[in-house]
Amino acid sequence: MKKTVQYPQGHVLLRNLSRLYPVISHGKGPYLFDTAGKKYFDASGGTLVSSLGHGNTSISKAVAKQLSRVAYVNGHHFTSEAAEELARRLAVKAKKVNSEVDRSFFLSSGSEANEAAFKFVRKVHVDRGQPQRFKIIARTPGYHGNTLFALSASGRPHYRKMFGPLLSNVPLIAAPYEYRSQVPDYAKNGAAHYSNLLEEAILKEGPETVAAFVVEPVIGSSAGASVPPPGYFERVRQICDRHGILIIADEVMCGAGRTGSFFASEQVGLKPDVILMGKGISAGYVPLSAVLVRSQDVEVIRKASGNFMHAQTYLQAPSICAAGCAALREMDRLGAVSNARRVGKFLERELRKHVLPHPAVGFISGRGMMWGVEFVKNKSTRQPFDRAEKIAERFVETAFSEGLIVWPNVGQADGHHGDLIMLGPPLTLTEKQAIELVRILVRSLDAMKW
Ligand code: PLP
Repeated sequence: MKKTVQYPQGHVLLRNLSRLYPVISHGKGPYLFDTAGKKYFDASGGTLVSSLGHGNTSISKAVAKQLSRVAYVNGHHFTSEAAEELARRLAVKAKKVNSEVDRSFFLSSGSEANEAAFKFVRKVHVDRGQPQRFKIIARTPGYHGNTLFALSASGRPHYRKMFGPLLSNVPLIAAPYEYRSQVPDYAKNGAAHYSNLLEEAILKEGPETVAAFVVEPVIGSSAGASVPPPGYFERVRQICDRHGILIIADEVMCGAGRTGSFFASEQVGLKPDVILMGKGISAGYVPLSAVLVRSQDVEVIRKASGNFMHAQTYLQAPSICAAGCAALREMDRLGAVSNARRVGKFLERELRKHVLPHPAVGFISGRGMMWGVEFVKNKSTRQPFDRAEKIAERFVETAFSEGLIVWPNVGQADGHHGDLIMLGPPLTLTEKQAIELVRILVRSLDAMKW
């Protein structure tokens, strides 16, 4: 096989029809190697997925063992030791954010988890005798997936432009996004300002029609790992309780240890009713996502209709659950979450010292092993680059040629302009590797034609 592929070579519908794609060979820890022998520092784990690095044989052996015993049964017919163990482990971890959240079901992607959660909250309200509740309130910027309802609930205006006719009408309110916030003294006034927006939206929509509010506790790539102002989620909880609205924490990107605690909700004072996980829950070894719910809501469904009315082919499949169990076991064995917290602080210091001074770097935000770096044309006015310059896309290619993999995002400044990159190295990163990452990042900033 060739060492690179570019459309129209081959038969894969490549994501970018003009890019030259290297062919991946293998990976070890934070490093990837292509078939031409080039080495890359994988500083984003794809889209913040590979949270335990590449080539972890404990996980691959555990999955292989499950595959050779039984790869697939339908969740309609059987449960499995792997599914039971994974749900048990998650129930223990969820105690830190809401001890009532003690039951999970498993799917294969973050988008599916969001779709399932929207149906779950709808079903709970209907079975509770409140069939008028169906609306999901979401935030912008924000991202919940690429399937049509999850995309409808995503504050990504440039997607709406293309797919608008296919999307549903989901009320969106502004998410706290420190760098672009107009609120004076964000840390002091942000909580009141942004939670008031929620209450206004609820009153406008009619509180009796709202089923749930969906949030990313630490916002992912759509707002560069933006952390909420202190007290925001405590106020959100009070407002939702007052109006009988459930809170869905989408921890698909920020969960599974990424921010230095198993759930990001733990750090931002959020007590969710439903928690969604994906990406790092299987550390990228197989496609796995999870929806964690409260037994009391499951009881409402049991008493009224007896079933949740949602399933997909790979629901609770033993192979995917085995990967989740193995990843969680590895996380504990390696002390990965506390490492992410500790080395994350070191990485932050390195980024602030060496990356923030660059004239095109406006802001650095995040926690643990989840960082956003926002690029601006003018640091003092925070003016973004013109979208036509394709800064984020070009920077990713520049970094790639320097041997560094980062994840881009665009449009966060005003729905159209705005360029940022996300860093999401393995939770097990060492200080030495953090120094190496920052060194290649600085080299890429210097090599970029701004
Ligand atoms: N939710 C969040 C917060 C995400 O970051 C993503 C993906 O980036 C998703 C949902 C969708 O997950 P998937 O791409 O696995 O469908």
